[in-house]
Amino acid sequence: MTVPLLDLKLQYKSLKKELDEALIKVAESQYFILGPEVEKMEKAFSAYLGCSFSLGVSSGTDALLIALMAIDLKPGDEVIVPTYSFFATAGTISRLNGIPVLVDIDPVTFNMEPKEIEKKITSKTKAIIPVHLYGQSADMNEIMKIAKKHNLKVIEDAAQAIGAQYKDGKCVGTIGDIGCFSFFPSKNLGCFGDGGLVTTNDKTLGEKLNILRVHGGYPKYYHKIIGGNFRLDALQAAILNVKLPYLDSWSEKRRQNASDYTRFFIEAGLAEEEGKINFDSKNKILLPKPVYKQFGFKNYHIYNQYIIRAEKRDELRKFLSDNAIGNEIYYPVPFHLQECFSNLNYKLKDFPLAEAAADTSIALPIFPELTKDQIKFVVQKIEEFVKK
Ligand SMILES: *Cc1c(COP(=O)(O)O)cnc(C)c1O
Repeated sequence: MTVPLLDLKLQYKSLKKELDEALIKVAESQYFILGPEVEKMEKAFSAYLGCSFSLGVSSGTDALLIALMAIDLKPGDEVIVPTYSFFATAGTISRLNGIPVLVDIDPVTFNMEPKEIEKKITSKTKAIIPVHLYGQSADMNEIMKIAKKHNLKVIEDAAQAIGAQYKDGKCVGTIGDIGCFSFFPSKNLGCFGDGGLVTTNDKTLGEKLNILRVHGGYPKYYHKIIGGNFRLDALQAAILNVKLPYLDSWSEKRRQNASDYTRFFIEAGLAEEEGKINFDSKNKILLPKPVYKQFGFKNYHIYNQYIIRAEKRDELRKFLSDNAIGNEIYYPVPFHLQECFSNLNYKLKDFPLAEAAADTSIALPIFPELTKDQIKFVVQKIEEFVKK
């Protein structure tokens, strides 16, 4: 049996007729950039997420970039971000000559540790970017409290978390000042190329984002501000218009797959309790812990990734690959140890929890079309590895 990390062809097969028709409709209209498909998609996302403004943009990275431009990030301004995320979270800050100020993560959720934020606030701090990593909300109440107290903007990096909800049922990306989403094909909702979305409930920010998306020109060819080409094209919007109604059912399947993994791991005796964070007992494999067991509240986790931790992660990784089981490491190097950020003057051991995550975590296949037999097979193989 082979188990790929992700098989996008299965989803395409199930929606082929609708998707092909949508693509042809755009071809026949010859309307390629922004326009009616994009507007339709933006309305649909505002309704789905529960926010007043949604703007289609060219990628998740550009969503972060335009958000930072909209809050008027100036050279030397500091933005507090977790050290453990996809590169774009910090890279976009540096591209605007801002300074990413890093904090460690919570070892259970892998999300930014709110207790670390306040220690890092200076007179130059402009914003906080919480990341809802792997599809689970960061602790937004705590983060918003700190932001309000110090008058900071909050830009949510919700690239991996479209449809995920914080404990009170609010969709992530609608809680801070601006939400950023990605439609990269491997996200829970992917288009046929690059695409992204920015969201806000603030009219002034919404209008500014809209102008920044088209080089900052308003009216056209008259520039009070400098923006960029952050436009989404109609083909991507047409794909998203077909796919959005299915998103919740895909997220539910991912959640079911996660709970099947958890059950099979416990049945196999590989994990006693979900998410114990030490390898001090018999536990060889550590499972993602439902957040209510630690914090007493429930997040709606959409499992863009299902991450386990393993003592001998690199050997496990090789064993899985040798057995045709897809896997990946998100992410092997935290920001503070990236060469390009050496000017920020961090060093090894500065953020021990993120470093431990980088050394022990591994992503297993979790996509919606995965079968129970495939999940069983993955767990059996991991059992074989642990017991050998
Ligand atoms: C994917 C991702 C991005 C960037 O999105 P792109 O569409 O690939 O540019 C940003 N942040 C996080 C956390 C991501 O996972």
